[in-house]
Amino acid sequence: TFILPWHIAVDLLSSVAMMLTLSSIVGALIMGSLIERERRYILTEDHWRRTASTDSLTGLPNRRAFTTALAEDRVPVEADQSSALMIMDIDHFKKVNDTYGHDAGDEALRAVAEALRQTAQAGDRICRSGGEGFAIYAPTLNTGEVRDRANQFRIAVSATSIRYDGKDISLTASIGVAQRSGRYSSDTHAMMQDADLALYKAKASGRNCVSVIDDPFHKAQAGKLRVLAS
Ligand code: GH3
Ligand code: MG
Repeated sequence: TFILPWHIAVDLLSSVAMMLTLSSIVGALIMGSLIERERRYILTEDHWRRTASTDSLTGLPNRRAFTTALAEDRVPVEADQSSALMIMDIDHFKKVNDTYGHDAGDEALRAVAEALRQTAQAGDRICRSGGEGFAIYAPTLNTGEVRDRANQFRIAVSATSIRYDGKDISLTASIGVAQRSGRYSSDTHAMMQDADLALYKAKASGRNCVSVIDDPFHKAQAGKLRVLAS
């Protein structure tokens, strides 16, 4: 319209201006609603993804999110370092429910989750693995430090004061720990099995304690050294 002679430009504009404006408005409305629908779809998907990976009682990741995260974590671990997978189970939790009620039990689980959060260090992963069980993954610890770290979590639980309906509830927890050094550190499935077995031992030896399963890497090394020495 700028380069046309003035009267032709005016004629042209007056005949198509209305059409152009209307089609622009309709186009903008259609485009806007498509973008809005897409935005809502992304928000809903995000909401469900978060819901599916979070434990609603404690706000911690659930077991599925935890195992997925471990599979994706590729923290390099030096030969003199260990990663530790701890499975914690609250002792005699059924008694807490029976004595104080289910809501008090829920409150206690929230308090335990908070105590674990406070005790965790940067890089640690925590989840509620189900019921009154929690799992903790500490990716890089000095090898001699594994039992101490597990004990810190155990003590954090027993030191947690839970007050519900004017009554104090105290808890203890047992922890089974699997540890791996160096190149074995990504074997999280086997670590889960070892930690489960260690937890069973901790329960059998009186509860409120930590049981650590030997690291097969170190066992293998020690075996080789024994053979060489003999
Ligand atoms: P142990 O020391 O051998 O682990 O004994 P326990 O009583 O902790 O174990 P048991 O498996 O006998 O009981 C677990 C109880 O935990 C029973 C179940 O009702 C309770 N529980 C599991 N999930 C929840 C929950 O989300 N909220 C509450 N309040 N209780 C729960
Ligand atoms: Mg229990």
